[in-house]
Amino acid sequence: MAIEAKWQERWEARGTNAPDLTRAAKPYYNLMMFPYPSAEGLHVGNVFAFIGADIHGRFRRLAGHDVFEPIGFDAFGIHSENYALKVNMHPGALIPRNIARFRDQLRRIGLMVHWKHELSTTDPAYYKWTQWVFLQLFKAGHAYRKAGAVNWCPDCKTVLANEQVIDGFCERHPETPVTQRWLEQWFFAITRYVERLLNNLEKLDWSDSTRTLQANWIGRSEGAELVFVTPTGDRIPVFTTRPDTIFGATFLVLAPEHPLVDALTAAEQREVVTRYRRKVSEMDVVARRVGAREKTGVFTGGYARNPATGENVPVWIADYVLMDYGTGAIMAVPAHDERDYEFARLMRLPITQVVAGDQPLPFTSRQGTLTNSGAFDGMRCDEAIGKISDWLAQRALGKRQVQFRLHDWCISRQRYWGPPIPIIYCDTCGPVGVPEKDLPVLLPETEDFRPDDSGVSPLARIESWYRVPCPQCGAAGRRETDVSDTFLDSAWYFLRYPSTGHADVPFDRSLTKQWLPVDSYIGGNEHAVLHLMYARYVTMVLHDLGHLDFEEPFTRFRAHGMIVREGAKMSKSRGNVVVPDQYVAKWGADTFRMYLMFLGPYQEGGDFRDEGIVGQRRFLDKVWDVVHATSMAGGASVPDRVVRKLHQTIRGVSEDVPELRYNTALAKLMEYVNELRKMEAGQKGHGIPASLVEPLVVMLAPFAPHFAEECWERLGHQATVFEAGWPAFDAELAKEDQIELVVQVNGKVRARIAASAGLPEAQAIALARADEVIRKFIDTNEIRKVIFVQDRLVNLVV
Ligand SMILES: [Zn+2]
Ligand SMILES: [Zn+2]
Repeated sequence: MAIEAKWQERWEARGTNAPDLTRAAKPYYNLMMFPYPSAEGLHVGNVFAFIGADIHGRFRRLAGHDVFEPIGFDAFGIHSENYALKVNMHPGALIPRNIARFRDQLRRIGLMVHWKHELSTTDPAYYKWTQWVFLQLFKAGHAYRKAGAVNWCPDCKTVLANEQVIDGFCERHPETPVTQRWLEQWFFAITRYVERLLNNLEKLDWSDSTRTLQANWIGRSEGAELVFVTPTGDRIPVFTTRPDTIFGATFLVLAPEHPLVDALTAAEQREVVTRYRRKVSEMDVVARRVGAREKTGVFTGGYARNPATGENVPVWIADYVLMDYGTGAIMAVPAHDERDYEFARLMRLPITQVVAGDQPLPFTSRQGTLTNSGAFDGMRCDEAIGKISDWLAQRALGKRQVQFRLHDWCISRQRYWGPPIPIIYCDTCGPVGVPEKDLPVLLPETEDFRPDDSGVSPLARIESWYRVPCPQCGAAGRRETDVSDTFLDSAWYFLRYPSTGHADVPFDRSLTKQWLPVDSYIGGNEHAVLHLMYARYVTMVLHDLGHLDFEEPFTRFRAHGMIVREGAKMSKSRGNVVVPDQYVAKWGADTFRMYLMFLGPYQEGGDFRDEGIVGQRRFLDKVWDVVHATSMAGGASVPDRVVRKLHQTIRGVSEDVPELRYNTALAKLMEYVNELRKMEAGQKGHGIPASLVEPLVVMLAPFAPHFAEECWERLGHQATVFEAGWPAFDAELAKEDQIELVVQVNGKVRARIAASAGLPEAQAIALARADEVIRKFIDTNEIRKVIFVQDRLVNLVV
């Protein structure tokens, strides 16, 4: 423990972890996801993530790179604000305290952080540029206002993203059903980049799991937009991935909010339609989307013409159709769609089979041929998809189309704790961006920051703040009172880190050129769809506007796994959360680091059990003994097997560490230490040559940095172990020993072949049988029996 404090002080004093960014020969940007500084402090999940990333950074450094490893704090947002509300404090007072605590914890676990580049998203010197990013998107036409139905948590008193609603309840308030509200908000047009966001995924060196999550979230589907026309001539477009089944579309279902509902509703249905629409408006968006419960819906009394059959089909409304996905209307083909089938059965609507097959309905496979489909009868479904789309296109009743699940990004939050959106409304000029010279728009200090049920931001209560002249015409204007989404803060922070010292620009051109894109980014897959997608999008826009010369921010991304405790997920309610501080205090940071990395494959995670830690401590004690048994004078003669083990260990660890296989790397180091101890025990008093011990200390350094520094010093070195360079191995020396295997056939020696020592029986037999001479003797005879003596003999009895 004293050792750890000593080295942390020394790193600080010597600037060991603070490279001069302007003078790096081989820059390597090693990024980890910055934490939100909660009052509880770092949890073991954070620590696991950071340590894995830190090991990667330290390894790169030993391999000759100038590694930049920054950290910061994602301190704005609803988590911080809700906590402040709970403990009845101002978030502005709470956050600095939490950050101080996090900083101590991060130092304590021995991260290689370049503290001069620390940032916090709540710092006006930072969020000035978050607002600048907003303005760039606004000027480029990427930011727009739209009114829409949104998820509203009555407890959070703010809008929730769909991803934050779990089975109809708020993710932060599992007791609170989410409701729906109609609000005008700011959006970023991320859907404009949807193809690029999808196609670029193939080129990225990212975890497959993360790429899949992104691709699914983008949700590309190919199909067609087909048009149903009402008797009064209104056109109702619908998107379908199965235009081949249009002849089986026996009714339409519209979102209750669809603009044509009023016009379509027949007088006798008006009352029931109105009542249904009112009921739906009280539901949340996600419950409607998932809809595991029984389907509901009502008939409007109106009809529209099926573009293929020319027949009028009834038009219904139902809550499971959403206005913001696709066109807000679907064609129902009950014979070939589960949900439509269920709805048709429930409402007693007609069902027409149009794909031939003898399975029971609904029959949803695309492997089939058409029936009841006029001129298209007998055509294969996959062929008909294009043919029918084109046929309807010729009659202006359809077109081929690709659709995405991804929505535009809602930026507005009706809360206090965020950067004010830099917009001023003017009756004449409309929304005007705050001139860049007037940034930052400071978040006003107020004690009255509690959200209320009005749906309006607390900033709207500070009249002296929001009443400002229009920057364009000087008339009386009004500031936007919403703040921006926390995900905007984190969508560009990696651009800021190298340039934190530059007050005049968001990111310095030459530093950015030198250090970005990020070489390695490590974080959790829980951020795969929001944070990582938004960061890619913002980078793309800034690239297109000429601010950056790359469009993908993270060259390599790896998702780390999760830590559970004794098989169970950790949670406050279970009371099984591992508080890292206690373990670090008891065992030291190095032992704790090694223990976490030894739990399992880093990218899969592991099961935390208290009793396992002592094993890591014993291992470090063994290394300590080995270091003390090191002879500077050369030591004893070294058996070949130890030399081989050294080179094999270097080879294995050099392969494992860059691939984040930390647990297997540690296992190899443990084996090697046992080999050294065996050797030493056999030659008491001679000491172990330094050439066998130094590579061990260097390879251990990323895992146990303080301990390795101390060992390195004891081995007589002045400079930090992190300047020692990663050890090289000799492939020849790493080769397994060759032995001579005697091969007999029916007890007579017929050949002697070279094989590696320790070859198991099956492989030895295969090798013997493959030998030119032996093949002649065994010919086509069946081998009846084998006598095998390892590393000596194979006797084949035929
Ligand atoms: Zn809530
Ligand atoms: Zn104006």
